[in-house]
Amino acid sequence: MTSPVIHWFRRDLRLGDNRALQAASESGASVIPVFIFDPALLHGSNASPPRTQFLLNALVSLDVSLRKQGSRLLIRQGNPLVVLPELVAETGALGLYFNRDYTPYALKRDQAITTQLSIPVHTYDDALLLAPGEVLKSDGKPFVVFTPFKKCWLSLPKPAMVSAPRPDSFARISDFPALADTAIPSLVDLRFAPTINVPDASESEAARRLDDFIIGRGKAYATRRNDLASDMSDDTCPGTSFLSPYLRFGMLSPRRAYWAAREAYQATGDHTEHESLETWVSELVWREFYMHILYHFPHVLKRNFRENYGHVEWRRAPDELQAWKDGQTGYPIVDAAMRQLQAMGWMPNRARMVVASFLCKDLLIHWREGERHFMNWLIDGDPAANNGGWQWTAGTGTDAQPYFRIFNPVSQSKKFDPDGVYIRRWIPELRDVPTRFIHAPWEMSTPPADYPAPIVEHDFARQRTLAAFKY
Ligand SMILES: Cc1cc2nc3c(=O)[nH]c(=O)nc-3n(C[C@H](O)[C@H](O)[C@H](O)COP(=O)(O)OP(=O)(O)OC[C@H]3O[C@@H](n4cnc5c(N)ncnc54)[C@H](O)[C@@H]3O)c2cc1C
Repeated sequence: MTSPVIHWFRRDLRLGDNRALQAASESGASVIPVFIFDPALLHGSNASPPRTQFLLNALVSLDVSLRKQGSRLLIRQGNPLVVLPELVAETGALGLYFNRDYTPYALKRDQAITTQLSIPVHTYDDALLLAPGEVLKSDGKPFVVFTPFKKCWLSLPKPAMVSAPRPDSFARISDFPALADTAIPSLVDLRFAPTINVPDASESEAARRLDDFIIGRGKAYATRRNDLASDMSDDTCPGTSFLSPYLRFGMLSPRRAYWAAREAYQATGDHTEHESLETWVSELVWREFYMHILYHFPHVLKRNFRENYGHVEWRRAPDELQAWKDGQTGYPIVDAAMRQLQAMGWMPNRARMVVASFLCKDLLIHWREGERHFMNWLIDGDPAANNGGWQWTAGTGTDAQPYFRIFNPVSQSKKFDPDGVYIRRWIPELRDVPTRFIHAPWEMSTPPADYPAPIVEHDFARQRTLAAFKY
């Protein structure tokens, strides 16, 4: 038996179009596929039972795919700096392969591993179409504003997809008697309480969703993406693609998403479809932009991107924060979205902007409280995109909305859920409220007794925030 190499799966839980995995398989050695549960990530401040359940489902499906190829996914728990040298010793591996991750924690960890291991470590850019450092201003500095970043990003050549590893690439784990046999743990094994149901998490499900989106809802994306109530027959089918959890864990590669959109664009001459596909690619670029921002400006995880709002005195209001988390603010659009989050571990982008604005601007509570709550619940929770979204809404981020543009929750509700379909879906107490009152039930002569009155008056809150942000 020849010595193997190790492919360390992290946020690339797929066999197809996986750069490090493909390189490992082309090394000529058999590939041992490994996933490591790192307690520092699992139980840190971003700990999330729903996201961990989604991850576990993804690992089960990855394991099924590997078993079809005569191998299986090796699971370990512990600090990778300890686990990986042990694995190298147990298997006699000649090399370690993995795809790069650009968060500050991952960069530090990966640097330490590369230095510490006695075998060659091969790393690849895979999580983005264009890695940090590949999209820079003419002076070599990183972009801090989205529109020029996007212009530059669009002008650069995009990498092609890579082929899946040959079926005989993977090692038979039984060939390594020194390896302890470990099953994929359950959520309870990982010391979490049981959580909500999460969607199917597999490479094939991601591909199905991408294909369905491109030939279906994607065609009207430019006009429908903010429509909160579109296709409510299926919770996971809003006007958008619902691909964020799959991109988050790499069941879908960004290259596949991009090239699917490009091909669909070339296959049609329809102006609306062109516009929709362009808008959707723009969203993929936002994903790349925020990862670049986090890479170049890691301080954003700790404080404002812009230093000029350091004077804002955020309020400590634990009861109001809790009401926001529980979907009990008395503003139906905010409460519907917050309850959707607790039911699904997900909400559409428009809803995220509305609830984030409500927390930061109507309650004047620090964006970091919201950022953490989202990380604790979102199945797509991603430090870069989440931080970018929160800082954008708070007005402290890169090209944030100006601080004086404050979302009015009632106007947002009327505009993006005109008939109250979304509200009624998530707030049973308001199901029988007539549409003319659904966005502001406090205006009824007898509002539903089991739904709270607004915890803050919007016009008062707006003035309070304008005063707090003023220099
Ligand atoms: C306060 C706030 C917090 C957010 N937190 C996250 C997060 O933790 N994880 C996350 O993936 N996205 C986050 N977003 C961005 C966005 O809301 C989600 O990516 C989007 O709602 C996912 O739905 P979709 O897959 O149907 O998106 P689509 O509209 O179909 O977009 C396609 C893909 O583009 C990417 N994308 C879309 N919009 C954005 C955006 N504004 N920023 C970055 N990437 C984007 C996502 O990967 C998404 O799957 C956040 C936005 C806000 C305002």
